[in-house]
Amino acid sequence: MADPMIEHLVALHRGLPRQGPGDTASTQKALELCAGLPSASQILDIGCGSGAQTLVLAEATQGTVTGVDLHDAILQGLTDEAARRGLTARVKAVRGDMTALPFPEESFDLLWSEGAIYIMGFDAGLDAWRPLLRAGGCLAVTELSWLTPNPPAEASAFWAEGYPAMRSIEANLAGAEAAGFEVVGHFVLPARTWTDEYYGPLAARLDPYLAEHPGDAVAEAVVAGTREEIAMYERFGDTYGYVFYVLRRSD
Ligand code: SAH
Repeated sequence: MADPMIEHLVALHRGLPRQGPGDTASTQKALELCAGLPSASQILDIGCGSGAQTLVLAEATQGTVTGVDLHDAILQGLTDEAARRGLTARVKAVRGDMTALPFPEESFDLLWSEGAIYIMGFDAGLDAWRPLLRAGGCLAVTELSWLTPNPPAEASAFWAEGYPAMRSIEANLAGAEAAGFEVVGHFVLPARTWTDEYYGPLAARLDPYLAEHPGDAVAEAVVAGTREEIAMYERFGDTYGYVFYVLRRSD
């Protein structure tokens, strides 16, 4: 990990309950849409972070859940919590890169990814991951999406820099179909998945983080960028959000 900005982002997010918007109820709701899973499913959670949703999937199924993340420091949270909950036999934490996942084709019944497919882009992620899925298997992802056709200029400008590939729900549904999936369902994650579940714990970490890194300009920039993102959501969070897209491989 050579990029000091990424190092600070990882260090800032390590130890948080989750590294992006989401909550248990939304994970469960998306899982319920994936009807017809085998009882001992093979599940892959891509960009799992410290595994908040990985553990929900393990607890809600009889399956084996493999969580993949690029960063060991963050994966450790999943390993520790799986052990604490007695789930070590069914939860695997694997260090890996989502752009080159180290698994054979058609080895999973269910692919999962919350708050991480943006790293590749929605279409590129779906294309790269589809071969890992057995015919008829499900893929559930959350993706940052515009909720309004005419976003306010300030929000537009902010995300044009932060995530220029961000699209409308309709465009993502069309992208999913073009990538060889049928849409089982989709829903917008509630605002509290941002405020209570993610930004609350993150905001509480910012001043202590600065105190741990006195005079570190990169740490200051990462904290300032985070504050800006949180402020943007406070003002314009009704115009964009995370959307759960639940898809089935069509053959
Ligand atoms: N799913 C978790 C984490 C989302 S944050 C949650 O919702 O809480 C995105 C995660 O993707 C981070 O944990 C980050 O370490 C990981 N990540 C970043 N680049 C990656 C890559 N190339 N391959 C796999 N994981 C990656």
